[in-house]
Amino acid sequence: MMRENHWSADELVEHLYGIREGDSHLRECPVCAGWLAEMETKRRQSAAWPEPSAAFLAAQRQQVFARAERQAFSHAARLAPALGALATIILGVFLLFPRPNRQPPSGRISDAQLFAEINALIESPEPRAVAPIRNLFQE
Ligand SMILES: [Zn+2]
Repeated sequence: MMRENHWSADELVEHLYGIREGDSHLRECPVCAGWLAEMETKRRQSAAWPEPSAAFLAAQRQQVFARAERQAFSHAARLAPALGALATIILGVFLLFPRPNRQPPSGRISDAQLFAEINALIESPEPRAVAPIRNLFQE
């Protein structure tokens, strides 16, 4: 009569690749015969699979990189509030301690300079530059 214990997967694989001899149990047991047939089918299918093309591998690599970048971006997004606070602090430091060699703002000129420039404009023959300035001082 047939053995109670069926063949293990390892034993079936060994038989599939010609390492292990078949015995009476394997020939008579429908369960083991079914497993063996299933393994043979899978082996044929995997042997029939074509080698992955270079384009397929490149696309797969790009997907991996894209996923890694998305994770890096989401990581940066979580850090964004902290980075924003840091940028604010740095901006505040620059505003509090301006560089000493910075040019004075162009809008800040002395009254003497202002009137000298206005007089120069008024005395110049260019009417379009003079008219708005005159209007400012008409009282
Ligand atoms: Zn069996």
